[in-house]
Amino acid sequence: MRIDLHAHSTASDGAGSPALVRTEAAAAGLDVVALTDHDTVAGWDEAAAALPPGLTLVRGAEISCTVEGIGLHLLGYLFDPRHAGLADLLARTREDRIPRAQEMVRRLASDGVPIHWEAVLAQTGGATVGRPHLADALVAAGVVRHRDEAFASYLHRSGPYYVRHFSPEPSHALRELRAAGGVAVVAHVGAFRRGRVVSDSVVAALAAAGMVGLEVDHPDHDAATRARLRGLAADLGLLITGGSDYHGWGRSSRLGDETTAPEVYEALVARATGGQPVAA
Ligand code: AMP
Ligand code: ZN
Ligand code: FE
Ligand code: FE
Repeated sequence: MRIDLHAHSTASDGAGSPALVRTEAAAAGLDVVALTDHDTVAGWDEAAAALPPGLTLVRGAEISCTVEGIGLHLLGYLFDPRHAGLADLLARTREDRIPRAQEMVRRLASDGVPIHWEAVLAQTGGATVGRPHLADALVAAGVVRHRDEAFASYLHRSGPYYVRHFSPEPSHALRELRAAGGVAVVAHVGAFRRGRVVSDSVVAALAAAGMVGLEVDHPDHDAATRARLRGLAADLGLLITGGSDYHGWGRSSRLGDETTAPEVYEALVARATGGQPVAA
């Protein structure tokens, strides 16, 4: 079984529609794909409709969190999207991403960078707004060649144009996620190229609070990071997962580039009470 537990669609900042992600997952030879858009479940229904034979969909989300001023992403799977506490938390984050992106645009424009809010909105199509949409607007305006270049310069977390948005403490998000019957895995916790990463003690505290897994196999983790995180997972009794963090053509990783072991997948499913994977 080939299982990829991390993918984005146009419901957030992926390039392809949920239906396309589903089709591409089948074409990539995957047996299981998880749709994990940022702070939203908006892509779930489209992804689940008319699944190709042989493909199973895990419905999830990647929840933006902040702890000690550092960004942390929590992958939540198989939760009940109607749970009010979790739904409110996701909505608050999505809504605050709009003034945040507007402020980043204002800062860039006031420094003479040719970017307009309307151009960013045109990139989103009503999805969870993120820096990749700003990147796309910068590409469309000919300021940079591709998303990576935008992230390395104008959009970097430690740069002058970066603005934060509301995001919960991971302990809070975890509590809501568990209350909604979901299982939680901390995403790309060693991706230092993106900015500061949290200490092992933060991961340990989440593990003690019921987080079940650590995303070790991720395109932004080098071999040394993976080895270190495997050790951390073993110490903390966490499941080891893998996912491509597929975003479509905006990023280099392809569906299935990173995968999760079948027994780990079974363990995640067994622990979830808020939902089940869906198949054709
Ligand atoms: P935001 O949540 O709005 O701060 O934006 C973070 C998003 O940008 C995440 O989806 C990342 O996957 C994406 N991202 C981070 N670094 C890069 C990069 N170098 N190129 C393209 N997308 C990136
Ligand atoms: Zn993303
Ligand atoms: Fe992430
Ligand atoms: Fe992601």
